[in-house]
Amino acid sequence: MKRYSKHFPFVVGLIAALLMASCNPKRAIMKVAVGDMEGYFGSGEYDGSELVKLTDRVYTYRWTWYRSIVIDTDEGLVITDPFNAEAAAALKEHLKEAGLTKPVHTLFYSHYHFDHTEGGAALEPQEIVAHVKCPTYWADLDASRVLAPTKLIEGDQTLTIGGVRIELIYLGKTHTDTLYAVYLPEERLLWTADFALVRTILPIGGPDYYFPGAIKAMERLAALDFDTFVPSHFGYGKKQDLVDYVAFLKDLQDIAGRSTEKFGREFPRDRETLQDAFDFYYDELEGRYGDWHGFDQNVLFVIVRTSTGARLGY
Ligand SMILES: [Zn+2]
Repeated sequence: MKRYSKHFPFVVGLIAALLMASCNPKRAIMKVAVGDMEGYFGSGEYDGSELVKLTDRVYTYRWTWYRSIVIDTDEGLVITDPFNAEAAAALKEHLKEAGLTKPVHTLFYSHYHFDHTEGGAALEPQEIVAHVKCPTYWADLDASRVLAPTKLIEGDQTLTIGGVRIELIYLGKTHTDTLYAVYLPEERLLWTADFALVRTILPIGGPDYYFPGAIKAMERLAALDFDTFVPSHFGYGKKQDLVDYVAFLKDLQDIAGRSTEKFGREFPRDRETLQDAFDFYYDELEGRYGDWHGFDQNVLFVIVRTSTGARLGY
């Protein structure tokens, strides 16, 4: 009965869409699926913004379904990712309310993607740190909303700012090749951007993602000593949540391998095999991850992404 109630809004939406668009039912089905993403991005639950204290020195800032950390050091604040002008302006207000009126010593860009790096000017940072390859990507695009870095880095780096040791861990070719995790050993906390989530399926199959590199890098992070895991989207959790996420990506690889054994190395081209291969993935994933946030909305994208990546090598 629970399963039926969970799918009830989708089914009602589908029937309504089919009735209204009977001339093109395939388009209607796709439109209902797109609209259903509202449930994933957490309209309502993840509206607005908030600043929450996690440890003596560390706060987490949430703007809609985005999440950064603010480190309160003796020399000023260190902030990871401004996201955009609206998010940065709201953060400034939260900082004022929390009495965190020190200047922003360092703004750190986790990777070059625009949804993480725009709007930093509102924070008036003294230093902006990013991977050395970020400007190469921005040169091909309209990066006018990105405040340019003052310091470019590569490889692992350790910053000590105002008595806080901040380890910037380079994740190699993963989600872009400009991605860092931020590890605070004394606070026993790890923050990652677009890299792992807490009991949540990755959105739309994982954009700009190299799975083999991501698994290696996640295993490296899972070997670190920390308690609190803060991802850049949705809720935060414990180290075990990162460990579970590595297992999820490894499961995807394993299912892809067994699917290849069962259905052949070439992409299936007939309807029956295509649908059987879909069921194979779906059954395996639903059994283990059906209760993770965003399963219904994202599982098709994940199946397409995983099966394609397995065949092409990414
Ligand atoms: Zn990204």
